[in-house]
Amino acid sequence: MINASLKQLAAALAAKKISSTELSSLFLDRIEALNPRFNAFITVDRNRTLAEAKHVDARIAAGESGPLLGVPIAHKDIFCADGWRTTCGSKMLGNFTAPYDATVIAHFKQAGTVSLGKTNMDEFAMGSSNETSFFGAVKNPWDEAAVPGGSSGGSAAAVAARMAPAATGTDTGGSIRQPASLCGISGLKPTYGVCSRYGMIAFASSLDQAGPMAPSAEDCALLMNVMAGFDEKDSTSLEREKEDYTRDLDKPLAGLKIGLPKEFFAEGLSSEVAQSIEAAIAEYKKLGAVTVEVSLPNMGLSVPVYYVLAPAEASSNLSRFDGVRYGHRTSDYKDLLDMYEKTRAEGFGAEVKRRIMIGAYVLSHGYYDAYYLQAQRIRRLIAADFAAAFKQCDVILGPTAPTPAFNFGEKAADPVAMYLSDIYTIAVNLAGLPGMSIPCGFSGNNRPIGVQLIGDLFSEAKLLNIAHQYQLHTDWHTKMPEVLK
Ligand code: GLN
Repeated sequence: MINASLKQLAAALAAKKISSTELSSLFLDRIEALNPRFNAFITVDRNRTLAEAKHVDARIAAGESGPLLGVPIAHKDIFCADGWRTTCGSKMLGNFTAPYDATVIAHFKQAGTVSLGKTNMDEFAMGSSNETSFFGAVKNPWDEAAVPGGSSGGSAAAVAARMAPAATGTDTGGSIRQPASLCGISGLKPTYGVCSRYGMIAFASSLDQAGPMAPSAEDCALLMNVMAGFDEKDSTSLEREKEDYTRDLDKPLAGLKIGLPKEFFAEGLSSEVAQSIEAAIAEYKKLGAVTVEVSLPNMGLSVPVYYVLAPAEASSNLSRFDGVRYGHRTSDYKDLLDMYEKTRAEGFGAEVKRRIMIGAYVLSHGYYDAYYLQAQRIRRLIAADFAAAFKQCDVILGPTAPTPAFNFGEKAADPVAMYLSDIYTIAVNLAGLPGMSIPCGFSGNNRPIGVQLIGDLFSEAKLLNIAHQYQLHTDWHTKMPEVLK
């Protein structure tokens, strides 16, 4: 059961071979056994999970059916979930219990999934290694000396170690795709606006997007069917017809035009990653795809542009954490201003403070035009680069991350080296496009490598198709870390 796909789990539940309570207990036992080692979960609450499972078992007994009914999954601790402690990886929210459900969580409840708990993450989703979490870093199930990636590193590690069959993540600059790549699982960042951001704690609102993380593309498609959809509570949610993201999974790939951006295969890419990507390209050619070289001339500006825009939005979003209404409040203060200052000094970690300061700076009078406005202009050029590339190809393929998982401490002292982990993912968020990472190989020291697929707006079903066809013909996504054997 631990290694079953979501489809298999749902079938076993529907056939009453196992109850949701039994299945959830199985995963809770695994979490209890493995989480002390990997720290993938911040909050586990057996009673709450089992109460949810019991409720769903009653729905199954009453004759209800559904593609994920009774399946337990884990949620990134950025989603507010009614009655669950919701920390966003920060001391600031260490004592916060959400009084309502994020829309994504509400969708999962309707679909009858059970929450296995809240997964660890970089503080306020700022990071690429999980080292910024107030609750301690997550370890990579493939190698405990290695980071799991970030910020959705807890979700990625939970799935890789099968402490959960699947998990939710969020991606502002790569936080679903990069940890998926480093932990050897599949992850999809949808088009901006496809999944509601309501109740998802905001980092950079114009970039944040929720998405699925699971062993396979087929699992991701099933999760997308639940997660996506218009929400009137989110003003940036798109009013579109409901899609079935599994509809194209079985389409053959003959004639598929894959664009290879020359900027993705230049300096900075590790040779091991490059080799695995080449092998993936060769596999796609066997499946009938053809490749064309494309160019994204402004891609090199995406990291600097992101580190102006994302901190600008973060500095505004995080101003709400002031110790007044909820979250951490300093115990000892003279007056209101002193309370604000001490609360924020104590509640936020170093990376969050760095971003708030950068954000306040680039938005300040005198610098706004030079930094913020200029970055917005370049953001538009980056989106135009992609639009031009998609005139020549159906999908863009490249690495997800420049290297396999790096070691703890390796980049923690050098923010710019850390920021460059997202060099291949960030432009996708700036352009609002969907992107996916799937496993495609291993480094010499047995750390997973992911290949990234980037599609035009609303091409999620196509990306899932392209990923699924690859997974039908390869077995990278079925490989398991030592801990499972
Ligand atoms: N690593 C990037 C950052 O630190 C992206 C994080 C994310 O996608 N949430 O901002």
